[in-house]
Amino acid sequence: MLHNDQMSQWDRENFFHPSTHLAKHARGETPSRVISGAQGVYIEDRDGKKLLDAFAGLYCVNVGYGRTEIAEAISAQAHELAYYHSYVGHGTEASITLAKMVMDRAPAHMSKVYFGLGGSDANETNVKLVWYYNNILGRPQKKKIISRWRGYHGSGLVTGSLTGLELFHKKFDLPLDQVIHTEAPYYFRRDDLDMSEADFTDHCAQKLEELIQKEGPDTIAAFIGEPVLGTGGIVPPPEGYWAAIQAVLKKHDILLIADEVVTGFGRTGSMMGSSHYGMEPDIITIAKGLTSAYAPLSGSIVSAKVWKVLEDGTDEFGPIGHGWTYSAHPIGAAAGVANLKLLDDLNLIENNTVTGDYLRAGFRERLADHPNVGDIRGVGMLAAIEFVEEKDGRKFFDASAGVGAKISAAMAAKGVIARAMPQGDILGFAPPFCLTKDEADIIITTTEAVVRETLG
Ligand code: PMP
Repeated sequence: MLHNDQMSQWDRENFFHPSTHLAKHARGETPSRVISGAQGVYIEDRDGKKLLDAFAGLYCVNVGYGRTEIAEAISAQAHELAYYHSYVGHGTEASITLAKMVMDRAPAHMSKVYFGLGGSDANETNVKLVWYYNNILGRPQKKKIISRWRGYHGSGLVTGSLTGLELFHKKFDLPLDQVIHTEAPYYFRRDDLDMSEADFTDHCAQKLEELIQKEGPDTIAAFIGEPVLGTGGIVPPPEGYWAAIQAVLKKHDILLIADEVVTGFGRTGSMMGSSHYGMEPDIITIAKGLTSAYAPLSGSIVSAKVWKVLEDGTDEFGPIGHGWTYSAHPIGAAAGVANLKLLDDLNLIENNTVTGDYLRAGFRERLADHPNVGDIRGVGMLAAIEFVEEKDGRKFFDASAGVGAKISAAMAAKGVIARAMPQGDILGFAPPFCLTKDEADIIITTTEAVVRETLG
């Protein structure tokens, strides 16, 4: 085995990392951490340091690390049939079984699932489906997609445009013209501090209505949103938000895409985040929790209403010209089947409400009174702590101080991974669903110690 220094040198010399300060990494100014193993909620690096992964990778290893049931399913599939494509009506037992399992878990009005590889390509598919849908319906001008500031939907050309975070647009000539953004459903960051939560919901719906009127309702095809804002800050929606938004969309015949890459398959404590919040989406994006990241796989679940138009379209225009070589890859599908079985067998979704509530209650008990803790929030197995310079008047820290990043780095040094969310001083938690109360206590205690050491 290579010593870590050698591995780090190879890393810096050869490996182009995503979402990384490339210059600092190449110069050795940021850590090169080589992860070599993992079990349960713990990962281990090649120096033998164990870390409690309170972000489940990138909120994706939902059933936890080291599940032999999934590893064996992948191995058996690779031995039996490593690959066959799914073009022109082909399939594999694994992909067809997984499609059935996904549709059994999707809301009743959904009809079919298309499989891709990751969240970005699934949302790319969704935008194309929405455009195809409106072309078939003879409304070629109805094409714009509305997303929210702080929404995260991927980092491709159209999906990076949908993502409402400045970092993902800067110097990439994004967003594309067909994508427009509306108000983030982020009550804690509202402009008017005197506004009630219900009034803020009305304000978000009104902003959406104004944007639609300004652009012209006939030009807007779809609205995309995560049931719970994820990478933008881990923010559950304000009271009544989805009902108010959906009323506006219905009025203007605009499709709703629920991006459930994070919330799908249990993270909110319900099977689907859209059901948790009473959403009735036309398309649902799934990825991470579908396989718990044991293999790359994503999906676009389409409603009966959308499916009917797609079917009619192919009758009129021929086969749909969309698909990837690796769509419905059997190894990903085998991982998905084993993963969804484990979720059921171990009652992991139920644990998200119990242990997730315990985690947030612990944060509140220990940190709610801290002068720099502005907000503690979350749902299911999702939590966030947002830091402020002063609570009075909700004064935020200057971004250049990097408070969130410092706290996250200090947590890692003490053996707990919590993610500094990219915009604002927000510490995010999304542990594997198998988190125990003892493990939650470690997260709570470490967070309190680091916050007090860093901020006083
Ligand atoms: N949608 C959401 C809600 C996500 O959180 C992510 C990834 N964090 C994506 C889409 C993109 O997924 P991927 O990184 O697999 O392309």
